[in-house]
Amino acid sequence: MFALGLQLHATGGAHDALVVNGLLPGHLVSIGHGRDGGLMRLVSRAAGGLTPQDAIGGVFFFIDPVNPTSTYPETLALKRQCVIHGKPFVATLAGAIEWVGVEMAMAGRASTSTHENDTLPSQVVALIAHDARKAEMLEFAAEYFDLLTHFGGRVATGTTGSKLNALAWSRGWPASQPWVTCYQSGPLGGDAQIAELVLDRRCQKVIFFEDPHVARQHEADIQLLDRAVYSAGEVTTCFNTPAMTRRWAQAMSILR
Ligand code: PGA
Repeated sequence: MFALGLQLHATGGAHDALVVNGLLPGHLVSIGHGRDGGLMRLVSRAAGGLTPQDAIGGVFFFIDPVNPTSTYPETLALKRQCVIHGKPFVATLAGAIEWVGVEMAMAGRASTSTHENDTLPSQVVALIAHDARKAEMLEFAAEYFDLLTHFGGRVATGTTGSKLNALAWSRGWPASQPWVTCYQSGPLGGDAQIAELVLDRRCQKVIFFEDPHVARQHEADIQLLDRAVYSAGEVTTCFNTPAMTRRWAQAMSILR
């Protein structure tokens, strides 16, 4: 955190826990406890804040899915504003460790241990895109086809997956085998099926290009998938935007 020169703003309880444990001394600003609106203020600041100095660049929020605050409006709104503004929203321990590695690599400070820790072949990645973002998903997959192929497996919701398979076959992937395993289309339960894989620790990374600007008939399923990721947070990471996904992919290109 120091090496990256981050300014850290923490909600009350997190701030107090870090201070009590002597962590990040002198680098933390408290923005207040939940009951005083700490989390609500962060939502405004993810959107840009009231003055430019207030804006935050991203959020680490370790969400406990069985804690009632995980479903509070401010929790959902915080993620949503990060998605809208293309800012990292990192909600799991595995994701936070990974994201610090991404930023270190982008800052030219990749460590040897990060470099050696290439676990992609033992991981399964989920690829999901809402309709308005399917073109971006295909563009990303075309650009980083080798990186995605390096995973041990790929799964997707129905429509996204069929488009990705067509892309792979057009690039010479064997016609007899799918590049990505397709589950149901999102509105028919595909997100819930991928959530079960996550809960079973059979999918370790979820790349979900969400469209935050439309009413989503299967909103409950989308939130269910998020909650599955939080449940398996020690091994699972999730990227909700093209911006976050591309930054990770660029960092991986530096590290590999
Ligand atoms: P689709 O589902 O890939 O079947 O379009 C994505 C979603 O809406 O969750």
